[in-house]
Amino acid sequence: MHQTVQNLIQIKEEIKEEIIKNNIGDYEPNVIAVSKTFKIEHISHLIDFGHFHYGENKVQEALEKWSNIKQNNKKIKLHMLGKLQSNKVKFAVKIFDYIHSVDSKKIAQKIADEESKVNKKIKIFIQVNLGNEIQKSGINIDHTRELLDFCKSMKLEVLGLMCLPPFDEDPEDYFKELKKLNDSLELKEISMGMSNDYIKAIKYCSTFLRIGSSIFGKRN
Ligand SMILES: *Cc1c(COP(=O)(O)O)cnc(C)c1O
Repeated sequence: MHQTVQNLIQIKEEIKEEIIKNNIGDYEPNVIAVSKTFKIEHISHLIDFGHFHYGENKVQEALEKWSNIKQNNKKIKLHMLGKLQSNKVKFAVKIFDYIHSVDSKKIAQKIADEESKVNKKIKIFIQVNLGNEIQKSGINIDHTRELLDFCKSMKLEVLGLMCLPPFDEDPEDYFKELKKLNDSLELKEISMGMSNDYIKAIKYCSTFLRIGSSIFGKRN
C-alpha cells in the first residue's frame, strides 16, 4: 500500500479515537487531502484508493492538475483553500466544487455572477480573520454576519466558516471561537484543522479537516 494511503488510513483511525475519547456522537468529519504543490502521480494513489476530497490553493495549478481527472471521475470534489483574486473567480468556479476563502462582498458577488453564467452551485465557506494582525486574509469577526447575509441575498450556498490560525500560537482558542460564531450564525459545517492541529479541531466538531503534509509528506 502506498505511503499516502497508509497515512490517510492512520489519520482516520486517530480521528475515530478522538471522537470516542470526546464522546461526540453522530459526527464524522470530512478529510480534505491538501494536494497543493504535489504532482498528480503522487496524488493518484489516494484517488485509486477511493478518496474524493482534495484541496488546492492556486487556481492555475488546480486547472492543470485536475481538469482531466475531474472529467473522468465525477465523484472527485475539489476545494479552493487559497486567497482568491477576483480576476480568477471565473476559472475557480469552473474547476472547484467548494471555495473556503470567501472574505469580501466583491468576491462573493463575482462568484454569484459566474455561477449564474455556467449554471453551477459552489459550496462556500466564509474565511474569518479571528483578530490576529499578522494574518491578512479573512473577514473581520464583526463583519461576518453582514457578509453572510450578503452571500445569502446573492443566493450563494454558504456551508459555514473557515479559519487559519497563526502558525505560532495555540489554535485551540481560535477553534473554540470559530465554533461559537458558527453556531451563533446557525451554520452547519465548519472548516478548520490542519496537519498539526486536526486532533484539536475535532474537539470543536470541525466537519472539514484540511490535511496536507501528514498525508502527502513535506512540501518544498
Ligand atoms: C496548505 C494548507 C493546508 C494544509 O496544510 P498542512 O499543514 O500541510 O496540513 C490547510 N489549509 C490551508 C488554507 C492551506 O493553505
